Amino acid sequence: MKKTLRIALVGNPNSGKSSLFNALTGLNQKVGNFPGVTVDKKTGQLWLSSSMQAEITDLPGTYSLYPRSEDEQVTFNVLLDEHNASHPDLVLVVADATNLRRNLLFITQIIDLGLPTALIVNKIDLAREQGYELNLQVLSAKLGIPVLATDARSGQGIKELKQLLAEENFGLALPFYLPSEAVQPVLEELQPINGLKPGYRSFIFLCNHDHLGHISNKQHQEIDALIAKHELNISQLQARETVQRYEQIAGLLGSIEKRSTTAAKKSRSEKIDKVLLHPVWGYVVFLGILFFIFQAIFSWASWPMDFIETVFGQLGSWGSTYLPEHWLSDLLVNGVLAGLGGVVVFLPQIVLLFLFLSLLEETGYMARVSFLMDKLMRKFGLNGKSVVPLIGGYACAVPSIMATRSINSWKERILTIMVLPLMSCSARLPVYTLLIGMSVPDDKVLGLFNLQGLVMMAFYLLGFVAAIGSALVMKWFIKERNSSFFLLEMPIYQWPRWRNVGMTLIEKGNAFVLGAGKIILIVSVALWFLSSFGPGNSFDQLEAQYVAQMVDGELSAELQHQFDRDKLEASYAGRIGKWMEPAIAPLGFDWKIGIALVTSFAAREVFVGTMATIYSLGGEDFEENTLREQMLADINPRTGLPLFDLATTFSLLLFYAFAMQCMSTLAITWRETRSWKWPALQFSYMTGLAYLASLLAYQLLK
Ligand code: GDP
Ligand code: MG
Repeated sequence: MKKTLRIALVGNPNSGKSSLFNALTGLNQKVGNFPGVTVDKKTGQLWLSSSMQAEITDLPGTYSLYPRSEDEQVTFNVLLDEHNASHPDLVLVVADATNLRRNLLFITQIIDLGLPTALIVNKIDLAREQGYELNLQVLSAKLGIPVLATDARSGQGIKELKQLLAEENFGLALPFYLPSEAVQPVLEELQPINGLKPGYRSFIFLCNHDHLGHISNKQHQEIDALIAKHELNISQLQARETVQRYEQIAGLLGSIEKRSTTAAKKSRSEKIDKVLLHPVWGYVVFLGILFFIFQAIFSWASWPMDFIETVFGQLGSWGSTYLPEHWLSDLLVNGVLAGLGGVVVFLPQIVLLFLFLSLLEETGYMARVSFLMDKLMRKFGLNGKSVVPLIGGYACAVPSIMATRSINSWKERILTIMVLPLMSCSARLPVYTLLIGMSVPDDKVLGLFNLQGLVMMAFYLLGFVAAIGSALVMKWFIKERNSSFFLLEMPIYQWPRWRNVGMTLIEKGNAFVLGAGKIILIVSVALWFLSSFGPGNSFDQLEAQYVAQMVDGELSAELQHQFDRDKLEASYAGRIGKWMEPAIAPLGFDWKIGIALVTSFAAREVFVGTMATIYSLGGEDFEENTLREQMLADINPRTGLPLFDLATTFSLLLFYAFAMQCMSTLAITWRETRSWKWPALQFSYMTGLAYLASLLAYQLLK
């Protein structure tokens, strides 16, 4: 008979759970999320024998059974609630061999829960290197559970671990710690409420029932009443438990852990940190690394991106040529294919950014980044680890928002996500280039600086200032969900493990394509619909009109461009543009700009293409200077003056600097926060900011 053993990997953050998980399951894994929270749930399969399969869950890192963060809460619920879908048959506690003392607190708590448990002492290679000698046989005897040493990086011990799992030989250990006598009567009274025999499990249930999702309001009230009746001081009980455990652990460690003095030589890491954490050189190196990452996702990624665009462009023109003339073909080519292209084109930036990020994490440098930047960033409600994503935002918000995962504090992560799209991403560049080229003379300032270049730089700076400023404001409105305590612990430097890096890249690529990708595709098809169809028979009339002008069944290039233009005007997008006009007139925009605002919701750079269509310049191969001339020559019928005067152009520039004109960013914000609330807020506040800034600029300049 086939049997599935459910196994949970738990342990302190950084102990190597994910590395072990990868080593055990390979690519046989999938990522979902725990119901109701934003925490990723990674599960994987492993065959232990021909008749037995294991389903392994990589639970979020946890320091103790007193949950302090959303992550810890998830683990807590999985372990305490027997009906939880992830509740394990067997708990594998992963401990960092170089820091057994801290890890043992949690281990002994897990043992006392009374679940079948085995201990994995991971990073055994590091412990040896640092001169620890661990007697794991004694440890196993004292804890009463199987103990196994592994090095998840090289795979040492993995075979033995699989064997241990297959044998299913995990006796239950004796309790390590018993709640004090005084609590016993309370636990007895609790039994009818939670059905648990008095013991540690019941005690932890009592102390932390607020964190449990599976019990009813009525039960919560009953438990609170019980606590009040017996005048229990929960935090005091918890403190007492912790102190007692540490005392026992100290005794235990004395008998199993030795550190040889010869290897207590100055570790390599401390030497490296002399430079990398130096008050001057530390920052210089960090700036250099930032610059390098920025360079990579800004310029190097453009090679594969151009390639992807060419391929999709080729496929598109191939489709338009060979597919029958029908709206379905159009949907396929200009809706679906274009949408797919819009998804795939992000992959190079995602892969590159995560390549660097996982290198920084793997080598241990990321912890130093927090150390260097935290003090400064906290003033703005952000985190030291916000810096890399923010700088990445100069290239593209999408991978950068994904990169905020490494920020542990929920509030600091949300704040970073919310303000990140204000950074001037590369999609704004074509819009800026077009508009600045129209409105700012190509002069030299002080005989040295190009005026257009200076204005461009000012807009880049503006994005940064707006992001920091918004964070400063928003930090007052977003409530902290859990106390973020900053644990400053510098991991030692080590070489990255390429397998882990590779897995991260695959995982991130998948998460983006399967998560955000589908929304991008849907919105892209919706936008295609809006600009390819119009109300009533307006399209048929247009068609008849142009068919009449055909020569040999074809329109001249010029007529074709006019036809495209008229179709866009008659489309739903055109209608929306006209309908929007009263609302955007105070910003100096007319309905044509309105259309572009609609279509460029796909991505900001679409603005340029839409303008080209509106000014009858046709698809891709128009001259940008011609477009500029055409736009400058356009007269606003309402005022009789040029439409794109300085006031309108600057108003438009500011609009694109601030507005959330990017469906992909909204999609990834949704995917990363798992809620519509945050993308909706992001969209509203950014559009509001853009509207105000444009209004002010236009009214002052006109
Ligand atoms: P998690 O937070 O528990 O999931 O830990 P990870 O699996 O992400 O590992 C944290 C860091 O420790 C990573 O940089 C790993 O490469 C590293 N690591 C994990 N296991 C080992 C090991 O056995 N030996 C060494 N030297 N490093 C390890
Ligand atoms: Mg992990």
